[in-house]
Amino acid sequence: MKQEARSRKHELSVAICIDLGGTDLKSAVVDSSGKILHQQSTPSESKKNKKKILDNLISSISIEEQWAQAQGFRIQGVGLGIPGIVSYPEGIVHRSPHFPDLKDFPIKKLLQKKIHFPLVLDNDANMAALGEGWIGAAKGKKNYLLMTLGTGIGGGIVFDGKLLHGDSGFAGEVGHIVIEREGRRCNCGGRGCLEMYASATGILYGLSPSLRRRGLGGGLTAEHLYHLALQGNKTAQKIYKDFGKALGAGIASLVNVLDIELVMLGGGLSGAWKVFIDSTRQSIARHTYLTTAKKIILKRALLGNNAGLIGTARAVFVGY
Ligand SMILES: [Zn+2]
Repeated sequence: MKQEARSRKHELSVAICIDLGGTDLKSAVVDSSGKILHQQSTPSESKKNKKKILDNLISSISIEEQWAQAQGFRIQGVGLGIPGIVSYPEGIVHRSPHFPDLKDFPIKKLLQKKIHFPLVLDNDANMAALGEGWIGAAKGKKNYLLMTLGTGIGGGIVFDGKLLHGDSGFAGEVGHIVIEREGRRCNCGGRGCLEMYASATGILYGLSPSLRRRGLGGGLTAEHLYHLALQGNKTAQKIYKDFGKALGAGIASLVNVLDIELVMLGGGLSGAWKVFIDSTRQSIARHTYLTTAKKIILKRALLGNNAGLIGTARAVFVGY
């Protein structure tokens, strides 16, 4: 009986999953049903040079590999999500706002040389979108859009059951839809991008210059403003209302082009849903045909901080 139990355990296939965030480098061992069996997190040391970042990734993979092997599991592959402009399938990080030294960096090629398993690598929001479609808020859906609202805006678009990559693998950069032609200057070099309005950065822009300086210097955050809005503070409420309107305009542009009904909102700021979602709905209705607006389902993403990790497991087990 013991023998039998052991041999069954041997057959369990797992994926090693890595989510490289601006603050934390998260790694996990995930089974083929999306269940996290083991997980750990270390600082991602995002301002260090590319060699150090690569070494950190290798060491996280190796820790998960040792754990999985000690359990007798079969490792099917390694999945990795990275923030920024990442070409797919080549796995070159062209630019990553959190990791200044990763410029046109062929990370997939270099990592693959150091590990013994097949490696899939993609933008982190794309991975999160895959995770939500696998066992999260978009389970079973053929078309959906995920927007992750944080310091900036990430996005992943699944269309006809496939993650949309485009010619270079950059598709889904929903934060850079232009909503104000001569608007605020964006990190991408453009002006008036959605993420300069519907993100934590955008929220701080809504403050008076003196309060903004306090915010940017530490102290005042989007979260504080959320609590102020809940307590009835008019300025904070107006800031979140503007945030919601901008988000709605961006979503309207996307659904007008893609005819996608399910739009999921994830990332830290989606937690402030209560104080902006009515403005978002009104704004969508204002910028789309009535029939389109009626069909749109706005949902909060389900998998939270683990969406990216779980998505990389789906990429390993099911592919794209
Ligand atoms: Zn931009």
